[in-house]
Amino acid sequence: MPSEFDLIRRHFAHLTRHSVLGVGDDCAIVAPRQGYELLVSTDMLVAGTHFFADTDAEALGWKTAAVNLSDIAAMGGEPRWIALALALPQADEDWVAAFANGFSTCCAHFNVDWIGGDTTRGPLNLCATVFGEVPTKQAICRNGARPGDDIWVSGQPGLAALGLWHLKNRIVLCEPALQRCLAALHRPQPRIALGKALRRSASAMLDISDGLAGDLRHILTASNVGAELDEAALPLTTLHAAGASRAQSLQCLLSGGDDYELLFTAPPELRTQITQLASAALPLTRIGRITPNLGLVMLDLNGQAQPLAARGFDHFSA
Ligand code: ADP
Ligand code: MG
Repeated sequence: MPSEFDLIRRHFAHLTRHSVLGVGDDCAIVAPRQGYELLVSTDMLVAGTHFFADTDAEALGWKTAAVNLSDIAAMGGEPRWIALALALPQADEDWVAAFANGFSTCCAHFNVDWIGGDTTRGPLNLCATVFGEVPTKQAICRNGARPGDDIWVSGQPGLAALGLWHLKNRIVLCEPALQRCLAALHRPQPRIALGKALRRSASAMLDISDGLAGDLRHILTASNVGAELDEAALPLTTLHAAGASRAQSLQCLLSGGDDYELLFTAPPELRTQITQLASAALPLTRIGRITPNLGLVMLDLNGQAQPLAARGFDHFSA
């Protein structure tokens, strides 16, 4: 049975590219660049709460890194360093090797140094802390949305929720939609390049981890504004094409979690500029606007304002 130190040496000690000192001492040493502020965020994934304990270890490794990197993307920053604390029920070396491989693949892909962590025995629990950099005073916070701003979302939120529904036998998806939904669920892509590109245009931003409508409320609260979403503008066709009814598509889009797409606001004068940041691989959709009156409503297909419930979207359920 490998010891804690064997596991660290074999699976957790990686070469670093932009750190003064990586794994092996009591602390890692990093030197943030001049003119930048440090962004720090921690995210924990608990077996049974955030993932099924039998989830593929490599995918889980990728996701543990990716959800952390996504928080840096959500501020317009560049992730630079990450530390991983994990509790493992047993020292299953194959599992650890696959998990470490997924985690380090994600780090390498986004040029992040894995600089340390902690390894202990306990119920399966994965916790990473990521450190990012953003040029001083350029971070995009949640409190900058202003009445009249457009509301935009990247990519196709709802796919991950649809994939989870399939795994829970709530829906039966067919290929190739199934693979796309499972990829969204298991291999989320932190939108780092987009976040950086939005530094000078987005007035407020966050990454969607708990559902578009619920997360939008965080921006509304922090900015002390309200919002109107246009039902006709919501990107539903892909979800519909995957086999979800209109009601199911709306529910996955508005209240499904785990998307890690960026939700942001920007003044209407910047529409052309923002549209130029979109690509076939990562579309950007304008889904509504910020209002001075508080609250979140959706303009339905007849242009009637419908309040969106504070929690969940049961009235949309099929
Ligand atoms: P200490 O007892 O001083 O806390 P540890 O024995 O826990 O140190 O860890 C030894 C080294 O291994 C440290 O540099 C620590 O950052 C690193 N380390 C431990 N677990 C992990 C892990 N899961 N991922 C990366 N580095 C790790
Ligand atoms: Mg320790």
